Amino acid sequence: MPTHRILTACISTASVLEVAVEVDVQPGLPLFSIIGLPDKRIDEAKERVRAAIKNSGLTFPLGKITVNLAPSAVRKSGTGFDLAIALGILGVDMGSDWVIGELGLDGSVRADRRMVSLLIEAQQRGKRVVIPAVQANLAGLVGGLKTWKVSTLNELLREPTWTHDASPVLESSQNTDYALDRIIGQNQGKRALLIALAGGHSLIFTGPPGSGKTLLAEAAHELLPPLSRTQLLTVMQIYAFADQPYSGGVPYRSPRHTISLAGLIGGGNPLKPGEVSLSSKGVLFLDELPLFHREVLDALREVMQTKRVRHNRLGTQREFPADALIIAARNPCRCGRTGLDDQDCLCSARDRAEYAVRLSEPLLDRFELFCDVPRMQAEEWKIPTSPQGSRYASDIARVFRSSDTLGWTNNAQLALDRAMSTLSLSGRSREAMRKVSETIAKLEHSDQVHEVHIQEALQYRRR
Ligand SMILES: [Zn+2]
Repeated sequence: MPTHRILTACISTASVLEVAVEVDVQPGLPLFSIIGLPDKRIDEAKERVRAAIKNSGLTFPLGKITVNLAPSAVRKSGTGFDLAIALGILGVDMGSDWVIGELGLDGSVRADRRMVSLLIEAQQRGKRVVIPAVQANLAGLVGGLKTWKVSTLNELLREPTWTHDASPVLESSQNTDYALDRIIGQNQGKRALLIALAGGHSLIFTGPPGSGKTLLAEAAHELLPPLSRTQLLTVMQIYAFADQPYSGGVPYRSPRHTISLAGLIGGGNPLKPGEVSLSSKGVLFLDELPLFHREVLDALREVMQTKRVRHNRLGTQREFPADALIIAARNPCRCGRTGLDDQDCLCSARDRAEYAVRLSEPLLDRFELFCDVPRMQAEEWKIPTSPQGSRYASDIARVFRSSDTLGWTNNAQLALDRAMSTLSLSGRSREAMRKVSETIAKLEHSDQVHEVHIQEALQYRRR
């Protein structure tokens, strides 16, 4: 029996690698080995493939079976090799088409979590791909592909049925006010959130525990407009590279303050994107910001400026987007009791001083909106029986998509100059004030920035 060669693809160092699965069957004692730097999950393919072939009523060849994954010098991982290995053993010829899918013991073809990245690559290379039928929707989403969708190993022994996947129209989902409407009171916090989301301004809430900072942040991703098809593909690709499930919708991530540098910006071996990339096109909420590790905060400052993360691996550069809207929260002091009328702060003078300097000037300078969130009164927590009829979501969607540049009235320009000199604002905060004022003007349906818009923007400056 000659050597069979089936092409497939996998993710290696966070990029897509074409792999040739070479299968050689020789007479001799039954032996089944996979070589070419497979990881443990690939090695387990032997058991799945053997059972799947037998349970499909097909003959599993006797003898010595060697599977080589070429290029053999690159480490490989994933479960999507099963189908290619099985076809190689059965002696099926697939030419230059890619075959991707995991096999169940019963011979069923199962989904591969990293499929979307592989399909995007296939589309760019003009490859035809055999994919699990359960992932047909992904082929549609990527679009411009030729795929053969299979549910069982047996189907692959029949005549191929290639279909052309045009891009479908995305289901229209809507952003809603629902989560925000459940929070009664905190009008200042809601207003700050509205401005932040509409204009993409990074925001930091300061307030005692239980004041609703987290509730406000959690409402954010429901308020943002749905992702476009291109954004959705980007997000799905990041999750595929990270080997993490993506539940759909606008990404929202809220890592704990104990997170490592690699966890936040990505890294590790194999290389995976971190939280700043997993939250791209969505919201990254960092609660208790001053408690994050110093190196993590430094990296965050960098990311907030560049909006992307670059990794160097064996001389190869790999870049991930990191353009989430950043919402942070902090307590007024380490113990968090400052601002609670019924309790006294337990911090020593030293605690207070240390806490105050944990966030560096350059990092704080990257935030465009600062908002105090006082603790809510008990009666403010009641959930309303009917919506308040707010228009946050529609206002956000309108301003979010607007690329208009607004004119400034003379008075507005003067007010900004005056604020600059009297408040001695940094160049960066001046720029932030300009942008925030424009967002406020747009929210107010104004085609010019007026003094009143600057005055509101100034309320959200750092003090
Ligand atoms: Zn305190």
